Amino acid sequence: MAKRYGGKERVAVTRRKFILAIAFFVLLILILPLSFILISARASQRVTVKQVEVTLPNMPPELDGLTIAHLSDLHYGFGLYTNIRAVEDVTALVRALNAELIVFTGDLLDHTADPQLSETSILKGLHAPLGVYAVLGNHDHAFERSTLRNTLSADGIRLLVNESIRLTRNGRSFWLVGLDDPLVGEPKLAEAMSSIPSEDFVLLLVHTPDFADRSAEHNLPLQLSGHSHCGQIRLPGIGPLWLPPLGKKYPSGLRPVSSGKTYVYTNCGLGTSGVPFRLFCPPEIAFITLRVTSRQGA
Ligand SMILES: [Zn+2]
Repeated sequence: MAKRYGGKERVAVTRRKFILAIAFFVLLILILPLSFILISARASQRVTVKQVEVTLPNMPPELDGLTIAHLSDLHYGFGLYTNIRAVEDVTALVRALNAELIVFTGDLLDHTADPQLSETSILKGLHAPLGVYAVLGNHDHAFERSTLRNTLSADGIRLLVNESIRLTRNGRSFWLVGLDDPLVGEPKLAEAMSSIPSEDFVLLLVHTPDFADRSAEHNLPLQLSGHSHCGQIRLPGIGPLWLPPLGKKYPSGLRPVSSGKTYVYTNCGLGTSGVPFRLFCPPEIAFITLRVTSRQGA
C-alpha cells in the first residue's frame, strides 16, 4: 500500500512540476516581448543625433563641408516637451555640434498647447555662424504669427515665411528659402525665390516633405522638412502605423525626388502629437554635412 501511495505522490509531484514549468514558460512568453517593448519605449524617447552626409554634385565648391543642425517638430506644450528643462537638454546637444547653420522645420508648438506659450522663450541659447532659422508647421498656425515671430526673434531665431535670405560662406553667396506650411498655410515658392539669381545655390526649408515634388519642378537641390515624425509609432518589420497627409511619399531620411536633381531630407522630429509617446522612432537631431562629391569618391 505504502508503495502505491508513494507512486501517487510521485505522480502528483511530477504533475505539479509540469504545471509550474508550463506556467513559467507562458509567463516568459508574455514577459519577454512586454519588457522588450517597455525598454524600447523608454529608449524611444531619448534624443539621437543622426549624422547625415548629402552629396550634391552641382553645389559650389566653396560650400563643400557646410554643416547644418536640423531640428523639427518639438510640439512644445504636449507629450515629451512640456517644460523648458527638457528643451534645454536638446539645445545643449545642438550647441555641442557646433554647426555652421541651425534650422528648425516647423511645429514648434503643439496645437493643443496653451496660447500663451507663443510668448514663451522656448528654443533659446542657439547660435551659429550663419544664423538660426525656422519655418512654420501646421500646428504653429493655431497661434498668432506675429507673436511667434517676435518670440523667436528675441531668441535670435529668424522666422522665414515665404522669404529668402542670402548667406555667405568662403566668399560664396547662397540662399536659404523658408516657406509657409503647405498643409494649412500658403507656400509661395516662386514669390520667395523672385529675387534669387537663377544660377545661385538654394537650400529650402518647408514643413511637409511631400512638397519636394514642387521643389523638383524648380530644380532645387535640397529640401529640409519634418512633419511626418517618421510615423512616431513604428513596429519592427512593419514600419509606421500612420503617416500624416503630405508626409506619406517621403516619410523619413534622405530620399531622391523622381527627377534625380532634388533631394529631400525628412527629420523624424523631437516631440509627439496625437499620442504623447514614440515607439521604435526616437526623437532626432540631424547633423547634416553637405558635400560636392562623396568622401569615399574624393
Ligand atoms: Zn509635427
